[in-house]
Amino acid sequence: MTPPVDDFPCNEFVELVTDYLDGAMPPTEARRLEEHLAICGGCRSVLEQFQAVIRLSGRLSEADVDALPPAAREPVMAAFREWAADRRSR
Ligand SMILES: [Zn+2]
Repeated sequence: MTPPVDDFPCNEFVELVTDYLDGAMPPTEARRLEEHLAICGGCRSVLEQFQAVIRLSGRLSEADVDALPPAAREPVMAAFREWAADRRSR
């Protein structure tokens, strides 16, 4: 028995989820990400947290991320910091 090939580590997902939500990801990458989401509940919940924050606020802010449940906050916060830094540098 071979486990499903997962060449999309969760830490990579957290870094890429913001590109995915920004629509800044190439379609082939988005496809890989969606395939990973299908098998990884942890990353699905991170994505859902991001989507919930964006839906509620129209945009991500640090205060919104602070309001997330503690278990969801760490990976989201790390990705958010990178996302915000990237935004500022554009
Ligand atoms: Zn994952």
